[in-house]
Amino acid sequence: MHERLKQRLEQLLPEMLGFTKDLVRIPSENPPGRYYEHCAGRIEEELTRLRFRSKRVGECVIGEWGDGRPLLYFHGHYDVVPASRPEQFNPYIEGANFFGRGSSDMKSGLAAMLYAVKALEDCGAPIDGRIALVFVPDEETAGDRGTARLIAENRIDPRALGMLTPEPTSGVVWNGCRGALTLEVTVKGKPAHVSIEHQGINAFERMIPLAARLLRLKEELRARRSILMLGGVCSSGSNFNLVPGECRFTIDRRLNPDEDLEAERARLEEIFDEARARGTGIEVRVIQQGRASHTPSDGPLSLALAESIGGLPRFESCPGLLETRYYAALGIPAFAYGPGLLGVSHGPHEFVPVRNILRVAEVYASTAWRMLAVAEPHDGN
Ligand SMILES: [Zn+2]
Repeated sequence: MHERLKQRLEQLLPEMLGFTKDLVRIPSENPPGRYYEHCAGRIEEELTRLRFRSKRVGECVIGEWGDGRPLLYFHGHYDVVPASRPEQFNPYIEGANFFGRGSSDMKSGLAAMLYAVKALEDCGAPIDGRIALVFVPDEETAGDRGTARLIAENRIDPRALGMLTPEPTSGVVWNGCRGALTLEVTVKGKPAHVSIEHQGINAFERMIPLAARLLRLKEELRARRSILMLGGVCSSGSNFNLVPGECRFTIDRRLNPDEDLEAERARLEEIFDEARARGTGIEVRVIQQGRASHTPSDGPLSLALAESIGGLPRFESCPGLLETRYYAALGIPAFAYGPGLLGVSHGPHEFVPVRNILRVAEVYASTAWRMLAVAEPHDGN
């Protein structure tokens, strides 16, 4: 069966690349979160063309194939980070690589997961169960139009056997991720011309003791190998001769698997409250937040995935947020494995090796077959 799937996928490669090109041409940049409707429409069209069932939940698209109770999710996001150059929305293949924004993260992965199911269908794989193909927007900014919406509307079945997502893992499997809490802090002041400076309140100067206090927390966190980064974005005032009425900076807190989101958030809130008690006006906006998550690497899905990849694949924790966390929180084993390369994703020369797309489609098809097969459970060829 595995050899047949592999051969069929080789035949399907031109279609997979064509679909990926169409998706890359749609500039579904996030932020700000645009062209979602176009992207969702193109995905629906492909599902219909391949004769899969499909439905919409807002801007999310859910395709389905197969019948029966056992359910496996293939899940991916179609938003991309903003282009570094506008030409990134003109995809092209040069040598062994496919270039374009989202080629690596993760529009080629969407094609791989979709065509993996197409190959199972074409090969008449003896399967008892269903595969749900979930396509979401709003991943890059942890927004509420994607997976968060599906969770809020109870659209993800907690009884599922597992979930795979083709994030750019550079050949390893991610079975967990750090949590994140990203805040924008605005320190309030009162503008005044420099000549009557004493009549104003200098928001920049008020920010300094707050930042110093945060740096002390940072030292403490560093001792337990946790992360707090200040000032990724920072701005103050509007002109050199005007007392700044506002000073704004970001805090990016990344959590270890054993750190609790609420507790860590409370520690930051305490520091803001201390500053407020000193009379500093502070507003805090949450840019993103997500819990750390972890799926053990010895369950049935991880074994099926490892066997399909071959060799001894490495299971690692992802340095960033992963949508596996939504599934893991429901008790569904969730892993990321995709064709892309982490190092070039989000960059000005984003690309994906074409052979990786084929390889990941094979791995998804084989893994699904191992998880859902009825007739040939010991066929390991
Ligand atoms: Zn991604």
